[in-house]
Amino acid sequence: MQGCRGCELYEEATQAVFGQGRKAAELMLVGEQPGDKEDLAGEPFVGPAGRLLDRALEEAGIDRSAAYVTNAVKHFKWKPRGKRRLHQTPRAGEIEACRPWLAAEVEAVKPQAVLAMGATAARSLFGTKVRVTKDRGRQLESPLAPVAAVTIHPSAILRLREHDEREAEFAGFVADLEGVANALQGAAG
Ligand code: SF4
Repeated sequence: MQGCRGCELYEEATQAVFGQGRKAAELMLVGEQPGDKEDLAGEPFVGPAGRLLDRALEEAGIDRSAAYVTNAVKHFKWKPRGKRRLHQTPRAGEIEACRPWLAAEVEAVKPQAVLAMGATAARSLFGTKVRVTKDRGRQLESPLAPVAAVTIHPSAILRLREHDEREAEFAGFVADLEGVANALQGAAG
């Protein structure tokens, strides 16, 4: 994957960031793309959004080490603002170009549940008909896994300015994770 030239995003990124987790993980969590910290570390979800995800998983009773965590797009897309590298949302063509890598991960891990976090992951996993706002909180039909769902990306919570709003969104995010954990238990039963 480090040699991939499927789109132009490799040009400005430090490295491609592949998924991480147990090969036999039951739950696959899919985010958008690596951020600034992930691009440098070469690991997914190690920055502020990753810490929020860890806290949400803990509250939902899900062991992150038992899940497989990855992104729909493997190179960090950004633009400079002073000394900072500002995140840019991947275009549809970039999501399409990167989909074979995600498909390969799904094929290798064969998860029992896939959860798309945010619009980019939802588009890559489930296509354009699935919308986070419309379909959040319900189980989707998907050939990828017996349990499939969408929720917001944890960075969307971090962007909220008001403390109460952040707390409410965080609670909703945890509830979505709990929903997937319960559906997973139901599928196993
Ligand atoms: S973002 Fe994906 S498709 Fe584009 S170069 Fe990187 S690995 Fe290849």
